[in-house]
Amino acid sequence: MVKVNKDKCIGCGACTAIAPEIFDFDDDGLAKVIKDEVNEDVKMAAESCPTEAIEIKEKNS
Ligand code: SF4
Repeated sequence: MVKVNKDKCIGCGACTAIAPEIFDFDDDGLAKVIKDEVNEDVKMAAESCPTEAIEIKEKNS
C-alpha cells in the first residue's frame, strides 16, 4: 500500500519525477497515488521525499 500524507507533502515533485507511474499531482499541487503498487521506484521516492510524506506498507503474504 502506498499513501501520501498530504499534511506533510510540500509538492516538491521528487516522487513524481522518480516514480511517475505511481505518483501524480492533484489539483492542489500535492502528490497523490495513481497506482497503489510497492516497487523499487516507490521505495526510492519515499527515501527521497524531503518531508517523509510517503508511507509504504508491504503486504506480508
Ligand atoms: S516527494 Fe514528498 S513532498 Fe515531494 S511531492 Fe512527493 S510526497 Fe510531496
